[in-house]
Amino acid sequence: MNIANNLNKIQSQLPEYVTLVAVSKTKPISDLMEAYDAGQRIFGENKIQEMVEKHETMPKDIKWHMIGHVQRNKVKHMAPFVSMIHGVESLKLLEEINKQAMKHHRVIDCLLQIKIASEDSKFGMSPEEATTLLQSKACAECNNVNIVGVMGMATFTNDKDQVKREFDKLKTTFDHLKELNSPNCQLHTVSMGMSGDYKLAIASGSTMVRVGSSIFGSRNYAQ
Ligand SMILES: *Cc1c(COP(=O)(O)O)cnc(C)c1O
Repeated sequence: MNIANNLNKIQSQLPEYVTLVAVSKTKPISDLMEAYDAGQRIFGENKIQEMVEKHETMPKDIKWHMIGHVQRNKVKHMAPFVSMIHGVESLKLLEEINKQAMKHHRVIDCLLQIKIASEDSKFGMSPEEATTLLQSKACAECNNVNIVGVMGMATFTNDKDQVKREFDKLKTTFDHLKELNSPNCQLHTVSMGMSGDYKLAIASGSTMVRVGSSIFGSRNYAQ
């Protein structure tokens, strides 16, 4: 497993407008440093504690993306440094991010997580809930967040047509939300696509892919 080679190969396949988030959850810092030395600067983690620890020991020009489910009481730990939070799925969470960002005199980029998969286990809002959120007075008062787009995860299936339909749904939702021109929003990012489906996602309009195992190898959660 040569991390630098994997990275270069994937980068060479991405259109220049697509941003690569290297998903490094569960991986040791030595692996992340291999990617860093190959030029990668955006890393995605799904556990706040793990991201905080990696942030503390690694170079400070790294942009840390929180891609996992976020518990409100843990937002404060990442608020000083997190670059983007992908999994915003409620007004309450957005308000907590806003509050913690304000304490650190920051504006934190956020993505609204939209539920596009048919499985029950996937988190996220419906397109209607996202619309309601963006039109709410409470959201308009969250001046320390910048909602920059949407994020979604397709169903874990070999049915490419289904995955394509789900990605298309996310892109349509993004287009609709963009038209609302809501305050504290600058919608430009569609975060969709992982190791197994990022090419399909790009074909459906993804501008940000989150790739883990194709860069770092398969994960061992038992460790
Ligand atoms: C783990 C994870 C990824 C990366 O998955 P791979 O299949 O290893 O590329 C992408 N997005 C989210 C939200 C994840 O939790």
